[in-house]
Amino acid sequence: MMPDTSEEIRLPKACPSCGSHLYRVNQVRNPTDEVHCASCKHYLCDYHEAVDMLEKGSGDEAEELIEKVVNRRHH
Ligand SMILES: [Zn+2]
Repeated sequence: MMPDTSEEIRLPKACPSCGSHLYRVNQVRNPTDEVHCASCKHYLCDYHEAVDMLEKGSGDEAEELIEKVVNRRHH
């Protein structure tokens, strides 16, 4: 028996394969459970890594700001 116990979570990191921010994870949420993209099933990371990502939160935004600064220097 394989009951569907997965649920969707939203992560700041976009799927490297399709760019989606929605992922599926087992409802039990074991730290070693795999987190997969909700649309293309691409494996992203383990659940404990996803939790790290959520706790850092604005990490991606800071990176985006750095990218913008770098782009500005090129123009
Ligand atoms: Zn994907």
